[in-house]
Amino acid sequence: MAAALPKTPFQLHGGCFCTAIRYTISIPELSQRKLLPKASMTADRLLVPPNEVNERLPIITLDHCNSCRRVPGAIVHSWFLCPREWVEFTVQPRESGDEKEAIRADSTAYLHEDKTLAERTYVTHFKSSEHSNRTFCGKCGTHVTLFKTGPLGPLQQALGPFFDVAVGTLDKECLEMEGFMPTIQFWHDDGIPWAVKLVNEGKKGLHADVADLSKLKAEDEQKK
Ligand SMILES: [Zn+2]
Repeated sequence: MAAALPKTPFQLHGGCFCTAIRYTISIPELSQRKLLPKASMTADRLLVPPNEVNERLPIITLDHCNSCRRVPGAIVHSWFLCPREWVEFTVQPRESGDEKEAIRADSTAYLHEDKTLAERTYVTHFKSSEHSNRTFCGKCGTHVTLFKTGPLGPLQQALGPFFDVAVGTLDKECLEMEGFMPTIQFWHDDGIPWAVKLVNEGKKGLHADVADLSKLKAEDEQKK
């Protein structure tokens, strides 16, 4: 079996660049993680073969859609999809206010524009479309989460209320843990062709003249 995330409970930590927004994701043991609908796991979407861990939540995705490229400014965006109850936020009060203590918020308060939280902290909301609700840090600008409202798609129907955490906001040691990798891509038909090709075929797919690149590498070796 390819390297996979642990089957036992584990935690991930992350936050925005300036640390005004921090979060902890607590992943339960394997049997308590919901199975993904088989219909969503098509061969063109899968980046690695399914196994008993990655066929369940959480899902780590690559997202080629237009809005998830533009809003964070990433040529291919990556999301960590998990149920709301797995995530707790710790947010710093605004420097202009009297508060000194960090504020803890569950994801319902965080995602649903809790007015006091918005006034007291840097948690800022932005709708990139009628049903796409995003949060970012109002101090450093990091794009932190996405969640959908409106009619439930097939994934929401199967998995219950989940939301997306921007993978690039996870602490580096979490991103480097064994088995942490994107397993599925979405909206690749709408992606930028060279970025989709790079994801699916790597450097060989992108550069027909890859042989020349190996020659360059050999020359570099000789110079050492
Ligand atoms: Zn920040």
